[in-house]
Amino acid sequence: MCTICGCGTVTAEQREDHPHHHPHDHGEHGHHDHWHGEDGSITFGAGAAGVHLPGMNEERVIRFERDILSKNDAYAQANRARLLAAGQFALNLVSSPGSGKTSLLVRAITDLEARFAIAVIEGDQQTSNDADRIRATGVPAIQINTGKGCHLDAHMVGHALDQLPLQPGGLLFIENVGNLVCPAAFDLGEAHKVVVLSVTEGEDKPLKYPDMFAQADLMLLNKADLLPHVDFDVGACIGYARRVNPQINILTLSARTGEGMSAFYGWIDVRVRNATQDVTYVAG
Ligand code: MG
Repeated sequence: MCTICGCGTVTAEQREDHPHHHPHDHGEHGHHDHWHGEDGSITFGAGAAGVHLPGMNEERVIRFERDILSKNDAYAQANRARLLAAGQFALNLVSSPGSGKTSLLVRAITDLEARFAIAVIEGDQQTSNDADRIRATGVPAIQINTGKGCHLDAHMVGHALDQLPLQPGGLLFIENVGNLVCPAAFDLGEAHKVVVLSVTEGEDKPLKYPDMFAQADLMLLNKADLLPHVDFDVGACIGYARRVNPQINILTLSARTGEGMSAFYGWIDVRVRNATQDVTYVAG
């Protein structure tokens, strides 16, 4: 269950009742928390919505929540070590539904695929629509369906990593489930969280959902081409984001027209180069 938002969904982690399992140890125990589709998709969570925690008082729920997050952190550390060893740079894209994450990825992949080996993990509750859109660009994509789950967790991402080519200087985009709340709490092993906010949303979202903006290293203000048609105060929005996270980088762009995208690519370039140097330094 995700007690972070109280949505009452059962997480993949919770469905595993093996007390001694380790991250990515799927050997003889044969976990049955997920199944694979013919298109390579991975589906988690067929449980009924609205599952609650019978007999748990508030204190136990808090302990349970801490337990889920510490298990997630262990999986995230394993993912991070694996990505670092492979020299693969991973970004975790988070936003509300409809901010334009998938369109932004399609544009970025088209513009960057000559420079980087790109792979994508797509998170949604249902359908492989987004992974299909990504695969149409020619790069490998794994769809994770979270079922009733409201976020990706590091354990799910570990399964998807099993199926993707990881390589030095490679770029992995993880598109999280559209949700500005729960994905903030779940480290997936990424190098950075990137929060996407579109100008068709309220400019006060950083104040309303501060955790997500506090966790992100970059905010992309998307759909800038629509600014003439909407009442959205860019300056106020940037001020709110900086109030929540003074260190956050902010770029205004439009995935539709391509305006401002090169600044995003520059931001990626610098960090991939630094990450690659870190690996060389550690290895040498
Ligand atoms: Mg999407």
